[in-house]
Amino acid sequence: MPELPEVEFAARALRRWLGGRRIASADAPESRIFRGSDRKEFSRVLQGESLDWIERRGKYLLIAFRGGAGLLNHLGMTGKWVRVPPGAPLPSHVRARLELDSGEVVAYRDTRLFGRIAVHRADELFSLPEIRGLGPDPLVDGVDAARLHERLARSQRPVKVALMDQALLAGLGNIQATEALFLAGIHPARPASSISEKEAKELASAILESLQHTLKIQGEGDSITYVEEPRAENPFRIYGRAGSPCPRCGTTIEKIELGGRTSAFCPRCQPR
Ligand SMILES: [Zn+2]
Repeated sequence: MPELPEVEFAARALRRWLGGRRIASADAPESRIFRGSDRKEFSRVLQGESLDWIERRGKYLLIAFRGGAGLLNHLGMTGKWVRVPPGAPLPSHVRARLELDSGEVVAYRDTRLFGRIAVHRADELFSLPEIRGLGPDPLVDGVDAARLHERLARSQRPVKVALMDQALLAGLGNIQATEALFLAGIHPARPASSISEKEAKELASAILESLQHTLKIQGEGDSITYVEEPRAENPFRIYGRAGSPCPRCGTTIEKIELGGRTSAFCPRCQPR
């Protein structure tokens, strides 16, 4: 499932693909992706537009065009932007497409349809409730250890569940929370309020390290594979590795269900 690094990858790719190009036409078949918004509006307002800027906040993409149109996009569980060369066939599950003046097509694919595209005015993107409700973005704002400690101290939830709360910190999901807790040596089921000031400091740097590590693995290319996809390699240290030896101490990695999600952890490196 796309988390902050995967959405950042999409932001960087879209800047490259759309930069300096004009959108010759835009269209989208009927689908759940446009729930709460109008897909016909998507075609109408984007035709003839060119990119002004793209920003990412947490797992959201904010896309602004020079003529004043804007898009808010969430990749959901399986959403992905792809570039299709001129004349090449479109891949399956395309839910929206932008044909550029170069003949290239920039397409939004989404098999499970949990993603969302909404048409707005560019100048209102940052005031949307979805964006205003987000906590600090680790890459944009950094991770303030004191603030993190203060926010965790007020929560009785398992620390793993608290880290995935987008209002506390924007962009972490199951993978990044699992990886960061491993790096910081913190058991995922510990109450958030039990995290000490020193642990919050370690956790803050672990979050940044995990995000940077993932961004580095993904690279700067044009295509990305999500770890849940068939035949994908698992590049993570502990996520999805229950039953395998811990990369640090060799103890068998265990798993626990928290907030409806499976969390892998090393019982020795992350004692309860
Ligand atoms: Zn270990």
